[in-house]
Amino acid sequence: MTRSASEILSTVFGYDSFRGSQKQIIDHLIDGGHSLVLMPTGGGKSLCYQIPAMVRKGTGLVVSPLIALMQDQVGALLQLGVKAACLNSSLPLEEIREVESQLIRGELDILYLAPERLLQDSTLDMLDRCELSLLAIDEAHCISRWGHDFRPEYLQLDTLRQRWPQLPMLACTATADERTQQEIVSKLELGAGRVFITGFDRPNIQYRITSKDNEKKQLLDFIKGQHDGDAGIVYCLSRKRTEQFAKFLTENGLKALPYHAGLPSPVRKKNQDRFLHEDGLIVVATIAFGMGIDKPDVRFVAHMDLPKSIEAYYQETGRAGRDGLPANAWMTYGMQDVIFHARLAENSDANEQHKRSERQKLDTMLGYCETVTCRRQLLLEYFGEKLPDPCGNCDTCLEPVDTFDGTEAAQKLLSCVVRTGQRFGALYIIDVLRGSESDRIQKFGHDQLSTYGIGQEFDAWQWRSIIRQLVTHGLLAVDLEGYGGLRLTPNAKPVLQGAECVMLRKEAAAPRRAKKGKKKKASAALLLETGTEAESEANQGLFEELRELRRTIATEQEVPPYVIFHDKTLAAMAMHRPMDDEGFLQISGVGQAKLERYGEKFLSLIRQKS
Ligand code: ADP
Ligand code: ZN
Repeated sequence: MTRSASEILSTVFGYDSFRGSQKQIIDHLIDGGHSLVLMPTGGGKSLCYQIPAMVRKGTGLVVSPLIALMQDQVGALLQLGVKAACLNSSLPLEEIREVESQLIRGELDILYLAPERLLQDSTLDMLDRCELSLLAIDEAHCISRWGHDFRPEYLQLDTLRQRWPQLPMLACTATADERTQQEIVSKLELGAGRVFITGFDRPNIQYRITSKDNEKKQLLDFIKGQHDGDAGIVYCLSRKRTEQFAKFLTENGLKALPYHAGLPSPVRKKNQDRFLHEDGLIVVATIAFGMGIDKPDVRFVAHMDLPKSIEAYYQETGRAGRDGLPANAWMTYGMQDVIFHARLAENSDANEQHKRSERQKLDTMLGYCETVTCRRQLLLEYFGEKLPDPCGNCDTCLEPVDTFDGTEAAQKLLSCVVRTGQRFGALYIIDVLRGSESDRIQKFGHDQLSTYGIGQEFDAWQWRSIIRQLVTHGLLAVDLEGYGGLRLTPNAKPVLQGAECVMLRKEAAAPRRAKKGKKKKASAALLLETGTEAESEANQGLFEELRELRRTIATEQEVPPYVIFHDKTLAAMAMHRPMDDEGFLQISGVGQAKLERYGEKFLSLIRQKS
């Protein structure tokens, strides 16, 4: 007996309606069509191939680049009562044999494989003897040489179209610009298929960028102010910094662990497992962490260093808030970040064309940091999407930035750079402008210059922002060989001569501290607010107890808590307080299998507290 897609949606997954274009994508695949699906993280891509794999006869193959990710997905499917398994090199031999025999007996609806495993002759031969229902390629952008995540083993997936020409194929990804999309379509020969694009917006993520002042304190203020007890990722560029920040956060009473490629692999694995299994843990990581982390309740992503491109920024920040609940993407950056990246690009072994492209990406990233308009609009524009109105959920929307005519300030600064010989860095130039009495300035005789002390109207913080903006606008260049000395570019001339104006963003005089006062919570707590304060508090209390129960069950089964139920589902239980099986099934995220497994335990807790 075959079930329909919507029946599966409600009885297995416990959801009452499809989201966005899920229905069309699913129908198209069930009918045997190919497709490329672009959907932001958390949009619900996996359902798009999981449901057709359950509707169509035979086993659906899912290619996924990361072992941790597929194990997670299989774990979640098993909880739902779906016949799923995975094959990868980390499994013990007898388990592999067991999965293979299930496969051959036609007992599996969904099989996850790493590309290199799938492409082995022995695997292909075995699959030839099975009935297959579809082929889904997850993280399909890995096939593109232009993408930021190229994986050579993905290239050979093109041989599969010839091998199984009638098998419907779905390729999906959350990040692919125009060129990457074309590459996916042509390499996988999706030619006659359809392209479904849902757009890149992640409306539940709030974007914030602040200038670097005292980075440790800024980070601590941000986490303690808005995310006490929440799970989050802090990104740094160096291994050393990840260790330093993890130590610093731990010393300040937070649960934080480092993660980088230099740690022994058992430690890495342990830290990643703890992040998945424990509530409210912070991982301080290099970019090596995150790909293939499917944790839905990451409430914040903090960047302590500038990502090298908008794509990287979008992907890293995108790991927050997969569950659709409010989440924060926060970053602090300064001149050092700019110099660091420019130097990296300059000293790389890449050819000139590649270097130019890296520099362009960095410039776009800087433009994003310094923008005075809506960040989301800019971000989406980068991916070729237009958001008609400012979003209302980024720092520049929430606290509009003032601009000012910075021509005079720019002239003072540029001429000071010229007069000191175009070899000093930002801090020194600022000292001269502000008339500092340092020995160094006297030694060079720069206290005699006409630009000495003419910049009292701004403090050092504000001058730093002005310098960054002039670098972003291409009027100043940073010497990358030496110590970050500043020099003028040809673009500076018209400004110095008064032929061109520059508009700059106004930086508040003293560094803006995190606002004290009412704690803002960006978590499920928001969903629990209702009529009176007392009721909201009671809901919150029940929610915490439901989480505790979930934690106990998850520990027993050695699975991450969100595999049992998502926060969103627990919040709905705390709000609606179902009393019987029927009511329990009404909760979004509760299907038949979960009712049978956990209904009694959760219902009795709810009854007891109501
Ligand atoms: P992606 O792979 O696109 O990042 P997922 O497939 O992991 O996203 O889905 C994100 C979350 O949204 C998951 O928790 C999933 O169960 C949930 N979800 C997907 N489709 C629906 C739907 N139609 N209704 C409610 N929740 C959904
Ligand atoms: Zn905005």
